[in-house]
Amino acid sequence: MTKYIFTTGGNLSSLGKGIASATIGRLLKSRGLKVTVLKMDPYLNVDAGTMNPFQHGEVFVTDDGAETDLDLGHYERFIDINLSEVNNVTTGKVYDRVLRNEREGKYLGACVQVIPHFTNELKACIRNAARASRAEVCIVEIGGTVGDIEGAPFYEAIRQFRNEVGRDNALFIHLSLVPTLTTAGEVKTKLTQHTVKELRGIGIQPDIILCRAKAPLEDDIKGKISLFCDVPVECVISAPDVNDLYQIPVNFEKEGITEIILDKLSLITDENDMSEWTEMLKRQENPRGKCTIGICGKYFFKDAYMSVMEALKHGGIAHRVGVDIKLIDTETSALKNQLKKLDGILVPGGFGYRGIEGKIKAIQFARENGVPFLGICLGLQSAVIEFARNKCGLAAANSTEFDDKTPHPVIDMMLEQRDIKDKGGTMRLGLYPAELKAGSLAAKLYKAKKIQERHRHRFEVNLKHHKILQQNGLVISGLSPDGKLAEIVEYPDHPYFIAAQFHPEFKSRPTRPHPLFAGLVGAAFEHAKDKKKD
Ligand code: GLN
Repeated sequence: MTKYIFTTGGNLSSLGKGIASATIGRLLKSRGLKVTVLKMDPYLNVDAGTMNPFQHGEVFVTDDGAETDLDLGHYERFIDINLSEVNNVTTGKVYDRVLRNEREGKYLGACVQVIPHFTNELKACIRNAARASRAEVCIVEIGGTVGDIEGAPFYEAIRQFRNEVGRDNALFIHLSLVPTLTTAGEVKTKLTQHTVKELRGIGIQPDIILCRAKAPLEDDIKGKISLFCDVPVECVISAPDVNDLYQIPVNFEKEGITEIILDKLSLITDENDMSEWTEMLKRQENPRGKCTIGICGKYFFKDAYMSVMEALKHGGIAHRVGVDIKLIDTETSALKNQLKKLDGILVPGGFGYRGIEGKIKAIQFARENGVPFLGICLGLQSAVIEFARNKCGLAAANSTEFDDKTPHPVIDMMLEQRDIKDKGGTMRLGLYPAELKAGSLAAKLYKAKKIQERHRHRFEVNLKHHKILQQNGLVISGLSPDGKLAEIVEYPDHPYFIAAQFHPEFKSRPTRPHPLFAGLVGAAFEHAKDKKKD
């Protein structure tokens, strides 16, 4: 019988509900339990694929090619599991199903309503996520905050769900803000009292309250929350600010949350092994030096590059090197000055022309000055454009994404993408294999001949230009098995210059850093040392 944990949030967004859910998952995994996580997003988009990174942060891609909420990235990284399409549902996706059922006559003439038809589908999604992974514990995070109009059916569904599976089999955890008023220096519990009152108003009594605060809560504050919110005092858990996210599992464990969860869900386990996580933390917390890596992109909102930033951190963990990450605006006129301060340059994925010419300049700078470089997806495409323009004599080379009349379309739309009209879920998505060239940097980094990586693109290196690129010294070191699609390119006359058509950041874990990121950080650290010597 699967046990269920529902995490909800109060007051405001960005309190870290996703990280809290991921943390609980890691703690239960360390007790030997098989865990999965489902993110339920109350917005109307069918999936996150069509959402702007400015508003919503990055789109996280799973092995099976689902375009999902970035919280799935936290779950995968913290718990070290691979999720799929069933692990993220939205109002749009579920309504789509309900409406199709209605058209097919499946409701036998009933008046189709939010309760029970929509809520029944939501409950089916929860069961489906648990079943798909055969999890012993299924954590379900409800997006948004309690009280949002669009979230109401979700809270109703989880309220019903608990009654159906029984009190011993489901648990509600609510995350709330406990602010300190700067003028009075006082810790305030009223926000928490109010959000719990709102939750109780819709029939959900939390079992555990996670309190986001500047510092660990004093006993009297915990006592107050316990009294007003009707939870035992040991179930009021401090979630203080941390220097780094990866410290959170250790803090939560100290607060005793795992024992409480195991007890409340009648889960019996003898295992308790956090060593993999604490070993990783030790490496992170005791760096032997540091380096500065610039993400040369166009968004100045960290969530837009969440997995890339995390993967850079993992690269640092691999080498015991602290990575100072700078977000560089490729549209700035002071680009060159900013590039000079970097030990490594990363050009991430993206869409549209804005910022491209600056990305190309950053890549040229990296290539010509021996600065370690990693290009991802659009970063690979920009690297190929740069190489064609500056090394192959094709000054007007471009991608047809930016200039459909270019005389040298070195990047062009994939054939199978050309007739697609719908924007949602139609890119080349998810895992595809690539074969690596023996003796290449890629083969050395991966220590493999064949790899599988996650993709999200419509354009590719034009097959017609493979030859001229190679003749001028670019190595195509990763190819699709049919030999037609360039998956990795590298420039051997350089300490570290490599770019991938896929997104390596989605498979990187703190406990298993991705080789392309580890390679970049290792090379950047060496570059930083050389720079100091000069
Ligand atoms: N816009 C490019 C494409 O569609 C790159 C996509 C990306 O970087 N994810 O191929």
